[in-house]
Amino acid sequence: MPSIERRKTVTCTVGNVRVGSDAPIVVQSMTNTDTADVAATVEQVTSLARAGSELVRVTVNNEAAATAVPHIVQELDKRAVQVPLIGDFHYNGHILLKKFPSCAKALAKYRINPGNVSVGRKDDTNFRAMIEVAVENQKPVRIGVNWGSLDQGLLTRMMDENSRLPQPKDAREVTIEAMIRSALDSARMAEKYGLRPDQIILSAKVSGVQDLVDVYRSLARRSSYALHLGLTEAGMGTKGVIASTAGLALLLEEGIGDTIRVSLTPAPGGDRAEEVRVGQQILQSLGIRSFTPQVTACPGCGRTTSSFFQEMADEIQSYMREQMPLWKERYTGVEEMKVAVMGCVVNGPGESKHANLGISLPGTFEEPKAPVYADGRLLTTLRGQKIVEEFIRILDDYVDSHYASRAELEIKV
Ligand code: SF4
Repeated sequence: MPSIERRKTVTCTVGNVRVGSDAPIVVQSMTNTDTADVAATVEQVTSLARAGSELVRVTVNNEAAATAVPHIVQELDKRAVQVPLIGDFHYNGHILLKKFPSCAKALAKYRINPGNVSVGRKDDTNFRAMIEVAVENQKPVRIGVNWGSLDQGLLTRMMDENSRLPQPKDAREVTIEAMIRSALDSARMAEKYGLRPDQIILSAKVSGVQDLVDVYRSLARRSSYALHLGLTEAGMGTKGVIASTAGLALLLEEGIGDTIRVSLTPAPGGDRAEEVRVGQQILQSLGIRSFTPQVTACPGCGRTTSSFFQEMADEIQSYMREQMPLWKERYTGVEEMKVAVMGCVVNGPGESKHANLGISLPGTFEEPKAPVYADGRLLTTLRGQKIVEEFIRILDDYVDSHYASRAELEIKV
């Protein structure tokens, strides 16, 4: 797969994670627990980190949340969960960061929303106060502009100026320009108050795919800060996944974006970590990073009329998903493995030969046998009721014999 040429940026370090330029594109997520509830937040951060979130953001919206932050970090340390915690501040960040120095110290980065940090003020005292805390603690900040909370004073001024032009631009264009200006002006001010460019990450999130692409293309052209990408309020289920994928893929393909978040609304009782898996899958589908072995499964058709094929494909995929945390610990490179699970002889053997390991299951009316291919060659043909079980054994053997054991590598070092 041809590699994507990333946009050159300054590189920012957030805790133990590098963001920008040649560093791997980072997947991040955000909790939806009450941050003041230490136990629930620790539990969710742990689950997000175990799913692969490399940065986790928590809201710090009041004094109880700010008090909880150091305890959350402490508990995560006890569990050996190393993920950097980012504080999301709106309206009162300048008060909380100053009043709760242990919170300011415990966080790995602060997210500042320039649209609401100075509400009710004509100067930038509040913004400056937050930057000064960041400088004092040597913490990076993300200046996160959001379509839904854009600085209304700036937007009104720009709309007024626009209306006086001989040929005014449309409101969408002016709003997009206001978002970019808000991000760039805030970054300039942050530098003026002492942050270095490598301590600043920018984002300008919108909820429409085309708007997102336009905003980020412009932001990428006009600055060299690392960029955090995401569609805000992406929505639920398929809509959220597809809209995020469409927007992020277009930008990532152009080399724009250094860290991503997929802001899915979970279904009631749904798994928050789904947003992490979707983010990883976007990067892996584009060939940018590998996180988990990829299963090529055919959709099935009239040649697989029974549920036999779906059940087998599902069992194999679930097994791989369950094994992955263990495999990752034991073997290097296993996340790059490709497994084909195909429904019949039409495309089964062909697709199987292109994978590291492939099985072509018997279609309806076909002889009940399943040829298995390893590295493009026929390895064996499975028959009978235990095809899945036997294939899983072959899969385990393949992983063990083809991917270097981490323990052995460590001994050699
Ligand atoms: S591989 Fe066979 S079962 Fe799968 S979609 Fe193609 S023809 Fe149908």
